Parts: sequence; C-alpha cells; structure tokens
Amino acid sequence: MRLTRSLIPTIKETPAEAQIVSHRLMLRAGMIRQQSAGIYAWLPTGLRVLHNIANIVRAEQARAGAQEILMPTIQSADLWRESGRYDAYGPEMLRIRDRHDREMLYGPTNEEMLTAIMRDSVQSYRDLPQMLYQIQWKFRDEVRPRFGVLRGREFYMKDGYSFDPDYASAVASYRRMMLAYMRTFQRMGVRAVPMRADTGPIGGDLSHEFHILAPTGESGIFYDSDFEHMDWIHSLPGYDDPSEIDIFYDQITQTYAATDEKHDLNSWADVPELRRREGRGIEVGQIFYFGKKYTEAMGFSVTGPDGSKIHPEMGSYGIGVSRLTGAIIEASHDDAGIIWPDAVAPFRAAILNLRQGDATTDKLCEDLYAGLGDAALYDDRPARAGEKFADADLMGHPWQLIVGPRGAATGQVELKRRRTGERAELSLTDALAKVLA
Ligand code: ATP
Ligand code: MG
Repeated sequence: MRLTRSLIPTIKETPAEAQIVSHRLMLRAGMIRQQSAGIYAWLPTGLRVLHNIANIVRAEQARAGAQEILMPTIQSADLWRESGRYDAYGPEMLRIRDRHDREMLYGPTNEEMLTAIMRDSVQSYRDLPQMLYQIQWKFRDEVRPRFGVLRGREFYMKDGYSFDPDYASAVASYRRMMLAYMRTFQRMGVRAVPMRADTGPIGGDLSHEFHILAPTGESGIFYDSDFEHMDWIHSLPGYDDPSEIDIFYDQITQTYAATDEKHDLNSWADVPELRRREGRGIEVGQIFYFGKKYTEAMGFSVTGPDGSKIHPEMGSYGIGVSRLTGAIIEASHDDAGIIWPDAVAPFRAAILNLRQGDATTDKLCEDLYAGLGDAALYDDRPARAGEKFADADLMGHPWQLIVGPRGAATGQVELKRRRTGERAELSLTDALAKVLA
C-alpha cells in the first residue's frame, strides 16, 4: 500500500480520552476510531491486524478439527427463553424489538443458537463428537466500556462449541481446545498463561481463562514462575495422539496459575516461595466444560449406543479477537510506539523514501515495493525524514527499509528491525530476502 493513497490518520498528540497505552497507540496509529461508547470503526491497518489474528485462530481451529460456521448477530428472545437465560442475563444484553413487536436481541454469545441447530440436525451418537466455531461480532452492554477495544460493547469474538456423546469424550475435546489455545497464542507471538477459573454466567464445572501478562490488566493473577520460562511450550504436541495431549494437559494444569490464591487442584501455599508470582493479566480467552446444562434445558438428545436417548455433553470456547489487538500492544510496545509480532503485523515492512522526487531514490523504493507487494507500506509522502521515522516506529512494522540518496547511489538499503533497533546496510536482494524470510 502507498501511504499517499491510504487512510492511516496518525496523530502526534496523546488523545485525552485514552487511559492506557494500547488505546492511545491504536488511536495515534490510525487503526480505529470510536463511533459510540465502546463501539469502534476499524480503519485499514486496524482491520489488517484483526484479520491476521482471526486467520491464526482459523488455522489452528482447523488443525484441531473444528469446523467454521457463521451464525447471525441478531437472535430471537424465544430461543433464550428455552434455556432460561433471557431473564437471567440482565442489562448486559441488548434487547431489540422488530416492526412486528417481536423480541430480539444482539447476541452476547451463542450456546442456545448452536444447541438448537444441532437439535435439528443430529440424531445419533454416531454423528458425535463435533466441534464448531464462528468468528462473529458480539454485543454486551458493559456498564463501563473502557480501554478502547479491550473492553468494548461491540467486539469480535471467536466462539466455539463442542458436542460429545459422553463425559470422557467431552474431556478429550476440552483438552484438545486447551492445546489449540496454547498453539494459537504462541503463533501470534504472545505468551498467554492458562488460569484455573470460575465459570460465571456460562455455568458448568471446569474452566480456564487465558491471560496475557501486562501491568495494565484488569485481573489480578497468581502464577508459578515456571510459566515465565515454559521451555516445553516450544514443543507443544500435535493433535494426532490423545495420550500426548493428556501429558501436555496434566503438565500445564498442575503448574499453579489462577485469578485467586485458592485454586482447588493444588494450593498456592504449595508453590515454593521463590517461584510465586503475583501480577496482572488481560483475559484473551476462556474455555468451559458444562456437560448437559443446555442440551437438557433445550431438549437436545441423540440415540445412544444401547438405543436409549442421551443428552450430549457440551463445552464452549471463546477468544477475544478484537481484545487481542489491544492486548498484544499492551505486551509489546515502547515509548516510540507499537512493536508488532511478525505474525499479526499489518505490514511486514515499511519502505521509507527519505528523498521523494530524487530519481535514484524513487527507483530503488519502487523496486523494493514491487518485490514486497502487499506486505509493504510504502511511505511515499513528500515529508521530512524525521516524520517518516516517527510514524514507522509508531505503527510498529517489524522491519523498516530506509532509502536515502547516498545509499541509493550504490544500491544500498538500510534495514532496521523495529524490536531490537538493529540496523544493517544491505543490497536490495539481501534486504528483500531478510524481510520475506
Ligand atoms: P470479562 O471477564 O473480561 O468481562 P468474560 O469472561 O465475560 O470477559 P467470555 O464470555 O469468557 O468473557 O468471552 C470470551 C472472550 O471474549 C473473553 O476471554 C475476552 O477475551 C472477550 N471479551 C469478553 N468481553 C469483552 C468485551 N467487553 N470487549 C472485548 N472483548 C471481550
Ligand atoms: Mg471470560
């Protein structure tokens, strides 16, 4: 993309309404603009990050065997009356009436809808297990929307649901998703720690929240310092061998991490004092096993192996895709701006033309741009070098390709790595190879 043809409205001043760094940087880098409290428009670079995160989620869900679907944002109140949650959900639910005075709502989650779809479609235990997910906008009328996309009212969420014929199979699905989540966050280039959690309004027996460690997090967290090293994270198993998944699951859940000091599997007091860490975290995902809660309430049963009717066991699995854009920035920035992990960056590289209009400099920049295509943002503005450096640092591209007239005369490009500040003088071919590696 050429910067002169792009809507990337960066701002130099610190926006007064933004209390935390990710919100400030997302506004300053021109990624989002607020439309109402907790409701945002996503501009080109913001949307590219949102899509990159969603696509990593998709890739890992597919590997774990989950099927993608898309359900509507607007649901009928009657569906939620079947589970009893229409009255129970409270003021966070946005309730709507259509022209026929029918009660509708903007979905805050989709357990009811998918249970109803499965009830219409699946008759036998032989058609289970099944794992389905969508990536769709949700609405929760939060009392205090704040921190930009971290706590919005409208937000983009991956919500997945498992349906199993029995308890053992449901636990295997839950463990598989635990693995998928660890792999997903690892691919995004962030560390998210799985914490034993309460089940809240979803209900159920077993739950983990995934938290990115950041001092600005809303949750207090208690964890074993083993999670800071976690060498084993580099050797996460694949999905083919259930016994490997069980070993991984036991290892991860036996290491202490919780949003309180009273984890019921093992106790905080048993963690050696030197390894106890207290900090703050941003919840970027949560997984639940809740058995037959919805399938019983909504009358979804299948024929079991002995011919009698059984209610399938369910779990649900959320990832805050829009919250992650902010959470990754909370975990990865410096005074100059965002430092995107390569996997989610809106562009792999920015090309900074320091002498726009100089034939040799322009030519080298155009050649770089031709080599990188959509992976590059070409800063072709007739602006001062200082302004280009500042904006590139602010936007956080993993690489900067800096081209001035002196280097261009000998075909040299300066390549800067945003994260480390390392710089090298390279030929066009070598610079391209490094960026595309
Ligand atoms: P929180 O405790 O932060 O309010 P939650 O536990 O109510 O979140 P879940 O029902 O577990 O949320 O939803 C799954 C994921 O969706 C969360 O882990 C979080 O990443 C994301 N999410 C939830 N609420 C919001 C929100 N208001 N804005 C942005 N993302 C959200
Ligand atoms: Mg949650």
